[in-house]
Amino acid sequence: MTAHAPAEADTRNVQWQQRSIAHVWHPCTQMQRLREVPPLAIARGRGPWLEDHAGRRYFDAISSWWVNLFGHADARINAALKAQLDELEHVMLAGCTHMPAVQLAERLAGRTGGVLDHAFFASDGASAVEIALKMSFHSWRNQGRGAKQEFVCLRGGYHGETIGALAVTDVQLFRDAYDPLLMRAHLVMSPDARQAAPGETGADVARRAAAELAALLEARHEHIAALILEPLVQCAAGMLTYDPLYLREARALCDRYQVHLIADEIAVGCGRTGSFFAFEQAALPGEVQPPWPDLLCLSKGITGGYLPLSLVLVRDEIYRSFLDDQTARAFLHSHSYTGNPLACRAALAVLDRFDEEPVFERNRAAAAALSEALRPLDDDPRVQAQRQLGMIWAFDVRESLAGPRFAERFHLAGREHELLVRPIGHTVYLMPPYVLDEVQAGWLAERTLATLEAVLPRKDGRHAA
Ligand SMILES: *Cc1c(COP(=O)(O)O)cnc(C)c1O
Repeated sequence: MTAHAPAEADTRNVQWQQRSIAHVWHPCTQMQRLREVPPLAIARGRGPWLEDHAGRRYFDAISSWWVNLFGHADARINAALKAQLDELEHVMLAGCTHMPAVQLAERLAGRTGGVLDHAFFASDGASAVEIALKMSFHSWRNQGRGAKQEFVCLRGGYHGETIGALAVTDVQLFRDAYDPLLMRAHLVMSPDARQAAPGETGADVARRAAAELAALLEARHEHIAALILEPLVQCAAGMLTYDPLYLREARALCDRYQVHLIADEIAVGCGRTGSFFAFEQAALPGEVQPPWPDLLCLSKGITGGYLPLSLVLVRDEIYRSFLDDQTARAFLHSHSYTGNPLACRAALAVLDRFDEEPVFERNRAAAAALSEALRPLDDDPRVQAQRQLGMIWAFDVRESLAGPRFAERFHLAGREHELLVRPIGHTVYLMPPYVLDEVQAGWLAERTLATLEAVLPRKDGRHAA
């Protein structure tokens, strides 16, 4: 790190912030608020830390929008990328192929026991969702079932921001402005476990939600191509967790009514929920393979947070429905950077770490430490609905207490406590990279609690010890 006088370095932060405000249109941001909430000017990253131009550090408690797995500037991924740079930076994937794409497709198929044995590549999550929707419809059409044109999605589901993905998304804030442009989709009850009535379990909620899905499929299956869902955690809706029973029920209903099941594992895949694919947790004890979906979308963590890459993993039956002498029956979808070798090579380095290191064991230890250190929230009257799965933690601040712009105030207070956090509405969540150790877990919990105290002091004018 180069040493700069703090004043001079702060000036550099401010300069980059101002130039950014002038020319960079930031995503998911009301630009008019940016003078009050200037973007952090990040100069470098190491492990779970981000650092600004004045050397102030911020713990990346949300893995840079859920993409980072093994920290910033990870030595193994860096080395793989540097080696790939000297071999092949990019080549088109129509009419050409390359080792990183082939190996990645093979290794991911292997992780589904060979069930999802074809990989279609794209560059970001939303385009993977577009591909899955188009592929499902087109596959039915190729099988003489062109009437299957409708999609089913869950309340609170999120699948990306492009027009097709938004049509199967149920997050009002992102969707409402574009509603007139969107294709109509069927919305069914979410299995969100927070909806449990007194005496009801998460599994009971899952059964109720599945019953609603069954009724819709019974009535409309001739017209329905696919059900799309986020397995186990509806992340963008506020880290809403649900019982894996729902995945089994959904799989059985999709089989019964000949509807494709699309698992959007863009956020929950790559180990985030405690298994490589969240869907693995739908397996019963002793079952070798879970009841896999028909299409599975992967992005975010697959490159360790390095480069944009997404994939749709597909069953052989669907793949075969496109094989024909006619070009028009093929899946002609493409993106310029489809299967970029650098991105694939980063993904292979990520898979190497899962193959060679005890990633899940380490995460379980870190998760236990973080959950333990968050125990003071158990009897905290300011919060409710604490939930945790794998490397995801969330709690809701009571709406009556949260006050205006809660998420923004919490984010700004987080900065003062060396945290990068971005609550969703009044849901505070942590989704740290997998390099979190037990000491950092304790520190992260302590800073999260201190940030909550700064935003919502327990008693007026008094801070907890
Ligand atoms: C982030 C996300 C997407 C969209 O991915 P982008 O790369 O942001 O387009 C889709 N589905 C889920 C579940 C996501 O979390």
